[in-house]
Amino acid sequence: MAITTYKYRLKVNSRQARILGQMAQDVNLVWNFVKQLQIDSFKAKSAKNYLSDFDMHEYTKGSSKLLTINAQTIQAISKQFVTNRDTFKKLPRWRGRKSLGWVPFNGQSFKLENDHVTYNKLKIRFWRSRDLPQDAKIKVGRFSQDARGRWYVSVTFESDLIAKKQAPNQIGIDLGIKHLAALSDGTKINRLDLRTAYLKKLRRLERTRKFARRSQAKSRSYQKLPKARQVANLAAKVANARNDFLHKVSTKIVASANFIAVGDLRCSFMNRSRALSGVSLDAGIGKFREMLRYKSIRDGGVYKQVSERNSTQTCSDCGWQHPKEKRIGLGVRSWVCDSCGASHDRDVNAARNILLTALKPDSTSALDTKRRTVSGSK
Ligand SMILES: [Zn+2]
Repeated sequence: MAITTYKYRLKVNSRQARILGQMAQDVNLVWNFVKQLQIDSFKAKSAKNYLSDFDMHEYTKGSSKLLTINAQTIQAISKQFVTNRDTFKKLPRWRGRKSLGWVPFNGQSFKLENDHVTYNKLKIRFWRSRDLPQDAKIKVGRFSQDARGRWYVSVTFESDLIAKKQAPNQIGIDLGIKHLAALSDGTKINRLDLRTAYLKKLRRLERTRKFARRSQAKSRSYQKLPKARQVANLAAKVANARNDFLHKVSTKIVASANFIAVGDLRCSFMNRSRALSGVSLDAGIGKFREMLRYKSIRDGGVYKQVSERNSTQTCSDCGWQHPKEKRIGLGVRSWVCDSCGASHDRDVNAARNILLTALKPDSTSALDTKRRTVSGSK
């Protein structure tokens, strides 16, 4: 049994756009309500600090009568809130007018027929870019909007007809700065170069807007800034291109191995450091890791996230480790092991060490200096 998601573009007319917009606002209302609920629970320091989605249902019960969304959607919102809170280990953001429209639903409250979908009596036609398999059973789905304001519907379904086979293979992945990822089998995946394709254009548009902002400030007559639509279009294109790319790469990796080990590189740390700032945001490392995780688990594989401490400094062949005073810096792309003479690519070596760490019985620990050196010198 494989679980797969298909996404379709909706053909929305202005009346439907208004209704979807209202639904998205109601979703935000519920989302912010459960967030406030969680904040209050933290403050109250009760025995149950972390609310489950069932705890939240107690408070949201019956609210669908007052809203344009149904009870299943309200439950799906709490569920997503709890998932996000637990995955990223912090409170999710408030949802406001700037948040892109999002309306989750479950299979029972939603219908997909020939050329249209139905949710809460709202019927919308869509571009049927591909057919669902005959035996598809829709579990959940969502309406979502991109920065251009276009609406899509995603449906997640179960099907035996497209059961996926994973290769019995183990792979370690070093997520990085220079490349999006280096794999333990020596493959390197470059980051998608958005700079040349989009960012130049974006910068040019921003410059026009900056001049307009300045001259408006001088003359103290404030109006809408020019090029807002173009900026939104471009932002949507960048986000779509990046998402497509990350989906393609993660799908390919997950299909190639049923055991995946990834380093626990902290994205927030990377954004803070000045030399690296912007880079990890650009690469979408957090998103990529999340895709690898859910796709691997979905397809019946094993996903492990392990500490990558010392993974760069240790020789993956013999376990020798660079001494403290001779640590290799960020700029060193390849090196030769002082102990066994193996030559290493920096990132591929790190990926191999990440895999070795994950394969150890107690795989949450980082590479242990002592143990590795002893076993390496035998
Ligand atoms: Zn070595």
